Parts: sequence; structure tokens; C-alpha cells
Amino acid sequence: MDTNEYKNFISSCKEEVRKDKNVDIRYDIFDQQQKVFKNYKHACQKAANLRVKYINQLDTLANSFEKNFSANGAQVNWAVEYNIVIEDIINIIRDAKLKEINLLESSFTEELGLSRSFKVEEILMDSTKMDCVIVEPKFAISKTGSLYFEFPNAFDRELVLSSKIKIFVLQINNIIKNLEDLELFLNLYAINKEGQEFPSLSTIFTPSAQENNDTYIYLIDNSRTNILEQKERRKALTCIACGACRKVCPIYSLIGDKPYNNVFTGPIANVILPFLETIDGYKHLSFNCTLCGRCTQVCPMDIPLTDLMIDNRNMFFEGKNIDMKERYKIKLLKDYLISRPKLNQKAWVKGFFLNLLFKNTIADSRPLPSFAKQTFSQKESSIA
Ligand code: SF4
Repeated sequence: MDTNEYKNFISSCKEEVRKDKNVDIRYDIFDQQQKVFKNYKHACQKAANLRVKYINQLDTLANSFEKNFSANGAQVNWAVEYNIVIEDIINIIRDAKLKEINLLESSFTEELGLSRSFKVEEILMDSTKMDCVIVEPKFAISKTGSLYFEFPNAFDRELVLSSKIKIFVLQINNIIKNLEDLELFLNLYAINKEGQEFPSLSTIFTPSAQENNDTYIYLIDNSRTNILEQKERRKALTCIACGACRKVCPIYSLIGDKPYNNVFTGPIANVILPFLETIDGYKHLSFNCTLCGRCTQVCPMDIPLTDLMIDNRNMFFEGKNIDMKERYKIKLLKDYLISRPKLNQKAWVKGFFLNLLFKNTIADSRPLPSFAKQTFSQKESSIA
């Protein structure tokens, strides 16, 4: 981010702080932790290890899911990019001669931009229609070829289960192996997300040969493999979207969702958005952090969010993704700070240099700290 972009970013954050925000930062899960798990930390570790194992076996799990899900006639499609998915879904709707469909929005359907595209194609969305429902499952289970869903109400669940055409859009990283694993992940998810023991309305769906329904699933990459390819960042794909990191983040509590301009927000967004979207458009998010470490402490999937943000900063810096002017200034500052004779200069001289260096950037929006009148060694020798 160059100086101007940074200034715009800061002023948009300030603008948001001034407005009323609807930001949920309640995070009091101790009672639920105690009620559900004998040893909560141990449960988190077990879940984190399982998710990492599954992410590392993603190709095998996805193939076995495809085989089992399609065994009873359901159709499995793999998609690298969202535009192919949208085109395909629109063709299904047109072939069925439908003018209205039911889209159950989730952050992933928003990421794909489904409702935007339907509006452009003049396909209406009606939340009571049962002809064609499009929905995101939370997990796919490879061994049984099943899908796990969570619903906000019983009506939506009925709609999905009885819909004639079912279209599912799944993030490729959300495939797990066994049905038995679900309980652990869902307990951790529900505790951290809602302070409950278990998600209130959920269901498992497995396509059956008896149903004469059209069932499609899209396994969608949408840049997840950019993260999968990077061994050190791969762990970010184990996120279960519980939102705990967001609730404890001091920056998020100040700025809320708006400055992210994305469906991902909070610390996990800082880590992954530069790779899901573009480095230039989102690299500033990795600097949008005080490195207090609270997100890492609470993450049930044990994702080292703070370390990953530092890794991102290093990568963007070394990869010359940082503005040349800023790089040069940082180099000057480094040369200055490692020179003992320069550090022994008078406080006002050092202050003058610092102000000169950061004039028009930091110094514009807040006062720079002043140097102590005496250096540590000068103080020591005056005491002696
Ligand atoms: S990064 Fe961890 S704490 Fe944050 S949403 Fe994902 S699983 Fe939850």
C-alpha cells in the first residue's frame, strides 16, 4: 500500500469508528467449554490435528467423496473458478425453464457473487420456492458421500430437503473423512460461534436412489489452492469460520466489517485475503494488526494467525510488494538506528531526523514519540 492508499484506508476506518457498528465481540465461552469437554485445550488440539491431516489428504478425500456422493445418481462438478460455476448453474436453471429460484445466502455464496449474477440474468430469488434451492453445506463427508448443513430455521431445512433441484456449492477445503469427526468440529464451532453446545438446527443429507430429484454439487477451489500450495500457510485452510478470532481482535472491535470490503473479516481475513483475492489489493491487511496474539490464543483450530501475519509481512516486503518510497525510508531508519554515533546524538537532532523521514506519513496523523534526553549509557555513566 502506498502512502495515499494507507491514508485513505485509515480515514475509511476512522469513518467506520464514528458510525454505529453492528459488531459482535462477545466472547465468554468458559461455561460451555467446561460443560462439553473435560479438557477443552486437548479437544482443540485433537480437532486441529485432524483438520490438518484432512487438508493434507484433500485430493484423496475429494475423489472418494465424488465416488460415494455420485453413487446414487447425484452429479459432482469440480470448479477452479467461480465464473464457471455461475455459468453452469444458470444453464441448469434455464434448462429446467425456471424463472425463480431459492438461494440460501452464506458467506461463500456471497464470495461467489451468485445473487448479483442472478439479478443480471433476471432470475428472481424467492425464499419460499421449492423448485430449485442453492445452498452451501458446511462440510462434506467423504466416506459416506454425505453433506452436513446448518440452518437458521426449520422452514429452510424443509425447503432444502424437499426441493426438486438441489444445487450445493462447497468450499473444497471443507471435506472431512468420517461422520464421527463431525461431533468434535461442531461442538467447537457452536461453542465459539454462538456459545452453545451444538448448532441448533442441522441435518445430514445423503443422495438416495429412491428420490427422483436432480442433485448437483460443485466442489469449488476459488483460489484455495493458492494457499494449499504454501506449506506454511496451509493451516489457514483448516478454519471452521467460528469467528472467535474476530471477537477478541482489538482492531476489529474498532473498525468492524466495512473496511475489509469482503465477506472475510477479522484476523483470518488478514492472513488469507491477499491470496484469495490479490496481493496488491489486500496486503495492507497483514499490517492491520497489533500482534497482541489474542486471536492465536482463542483459535480452536490452533491456527498461528499472528505468525502467519508476520510471515505475510516478510513475504510482501521481500517480494517488493511494499511501496519503494516506504522501503527506502525503512532502510534509512534501520541504518540510523544501528549506528551508535548517530544514536548518541542529541535528542532534538534524532527527533528532527525522524520527523523529516516520516513527514507526510505517520507524522501527519499522530505525533511521533520523542527521544529521551539522555541515552541509556549516558544515564548509567552519570549515576556512576
Ligand atoms: S481462524 Fe480460528 S478462530 Fe478465526 S474463525 Fe477460523 S477457526 Fe475460528
